[in-house]
Amino acid sequence: MSGKYAPGIPPERGLFCNRTLNMRAIKAVGYDMDYTLIHYRVEEWERRAYDYMKKHFLSRGWPIAHLEFQPEMVTRGLIVDTETGNLVKANRFGFVKRAFHGTRALEFDKQREAYSRTMVDLADRRWVFLNTLFSLSEACMYAQLVDLLDERKLTEVLGYEELYRKVRKTLDTAHMEGRLKGEILADPDRFIVLDPEVPLTLLDQRHAGKKLLLITNSEWSYTAAIMSYSFDRFLPEGMKWRDLFDVVIVGARKPEFFTTRSPFFEVVTEEGLLRPTIGKMQLGTAYLGGSAQQTEEYLGLSGDEILYVGDHMFGDVHVTKNVLRWRTALILRELEEEIVALRSFDVKEIELEHLMKEKEALEAEVCSIRIAIQRKRGGYGPQLPEAEQELQSALGKLKSRLAELDQTVGPLAKAAGELNNSAWGPLMRAGNDKSHLARQVERYADIYTSRVSNLLHATPYIYLRSPRGDLPHDRAPVKGFQE
Ligand code: IMP
Ligand code: MG
Repeated sequence: MSGKYAPGIPPERGLFCNRTLNMRAIKAVGYDMDYTLIHYRVEEWERRAYDYMKKHFLSRGWPIAHLEFQPEMVTRGLIVDTETGNLVKANRFGFVKRAFHGTRALEFDKQREAYSRTMVDLADRRWVFLNTLFSLSEACMYAQLVDLLDERKLTEVLGYEELYRKVRKTLDTAHMEGRLKGEILADPDRFIVLDPEVPLTLLDQRHAGKKLLLITNSEWSYTAAIMSYSFDRFLPEGMKWRDLFDVVIVGARKPEFFTTRSPFFEVVTEEGLLRPTIGKMQLGTAYLGGSAQQTEEYLGLSGDEILYVGDHMFGDVHVTKNVLRWRTALILRELEEEIVALRSFDVKEIELEHLMKEKEALEAEVCSIRIAIQRKRGGYGPQLPEAEQELQSALGKLKSRLAELDQTVGPLAKAAGELNNSAWGPLMRAGNDKSHLARQVERYADIYTSRVSNLLHATPYIYLRSPRGDLPHDRAPVKGFQE
């Protein structure tokens, strides 16, 4: 319900709460930059990163001139199995629910053979979780190269694991070297999606008395240029992006930033000249490196008074929550499309639920008739008055009704599993269950939302409450009994 002063917002722009968060109790809000304060056109950015990798491998003589970036091939939250060259989607328990080998879907029995005894455990180096939108080019390239490796066309690579490490290293270099970033800076209109509401969100928070921090892994020159391009034009006359932040930390080396104590360097000039920080941190200064612990000490705040907002499932949210117990917000841009897609499927979802209820009731009947026949044959227990033949005929009718139902249920369930991405389905679901990504989100992110500016509508005064958790026994009648 919306009132005169609180405009309604579309569901896909909502804030979703796992653990109650009172924004009034938050004294400092820390922001990640890339894909948090700044949103890139994913396809453009990732295609450039992909092309960079392609160029590198071509220069090594790999036969990949025909390869192209295919953005729909992968999504965030999938997991690379570096031992087998597969890409998998797992549910919240780590059971693999869908798998591709290279660019081809694994047939059901092959998938079962590969994973019936193997669960995804992200603590094991074998598995690589796709944590951010920056992971898409890497996963796409890897899947395509796995096909070539199988065709024995990559003679210098010994196996799937080595292939993965090579792709990883090449992408790493692409991000670290100046060239790719240089291209972004040379044509920011092409790569950056401006959002005038983001600077206003931060202005509101600042005027509400919150300290604002920028903590990014990007380097100073890139950060300064990107922030200035995306923020300055939307700020009040005479104000620059730097004026919004109490502390700016670049080259933060997250996740180590949250776990270890490293020295801070002060960024002394606009060109990024550095000098070691002597004594305490200063308000309004930009730093390189450092650690969350020292930042916390400098602010004189405890972990639960700081909210950190980021897009990287591990580097921004998991470690922050686990090590420092900061409050956490995950930015998941894909949620917008996902929620719209789910909404458009609402009517069919209800139909599917009805059909499944009918199916379950019929299955319960089948079970009861089977046990009645078994008892009749065994001559034990309570007996039904009907003859076995009569029971068999009832059983036959039920089974053909079930087969009929499956004709409708099958395609509907398939469509539900293909929502938003025909290969992998919704980000947060794996079949009927939560996906591995969804499990991590609920574990480590106190709140999650599609973009920073969704905090604008909520205001810095919002009290976010988590909904009552859903448990299997909440609504369900005991199986086999009528409601
Ligand atoms: P943040 O999200 O603001 O912390 O910044 C992320 C930074 O990490 C950006 O400068 C990215 O270019 C960089 N980055 C993203 N993926 C990789 C990678 O795989 N290797 C090295 N740097 C990366
Ligand atoms: Mg980021």
